[in-house]
Amino acid sequence: MNIALVAHDKKKELMIQFCIAYKGILEKHTLYATGTTGKLVREIVGLKVYTFLPGAQGGDQQIGARIAYNSIDMVLFFRDPLDAASYEPDMFSLLRLCDKQNIPIASNTATAELLIHGLERGDLDWRDIVNPK
Ligand code: PGA
Repeated sequence: MNIALVAHDKKKELMIQFCIAYKGILEKHTLYATGTTGKLVREIVGLKVYTFLPGAQGGDQQIGARIAYNSIDMVLFFRDPLDAASYEPDMFSLLRLCDKQNIPIASNTATAELLIHGLERGDLDWRDIVNPK
């Protein structure tokens, strides 16, 4: 599966901890991320991650384009709820595209854990049928 990772600055530490905790599952999949998030996950966690531009330079939109083509299977977007004004447009844009393609998206670790466990259990295997690689 293709998994997209995005973390706002105040949530990057949480993303790293999440990726360390679930490294065993994540390493079986193809990971994509916005620039800074991806760099941190690659360097600190040691996972292979394809990085796009930093979020501020359009990385979110690059991920959005792949979601629009239904080529991303899951999005883990840890957003900063205390800076909604500056981040909401990006989040809503990805949320709308995920809803259009029925792609699961988590905005916090509680939901992300459910998705990761579901992924490991095979709950998302239907995506391979809908979207064969
Ligand atoms: P970043 O982008 O991973 O390059 O920091 C995340 C974002 O703010 O959308």
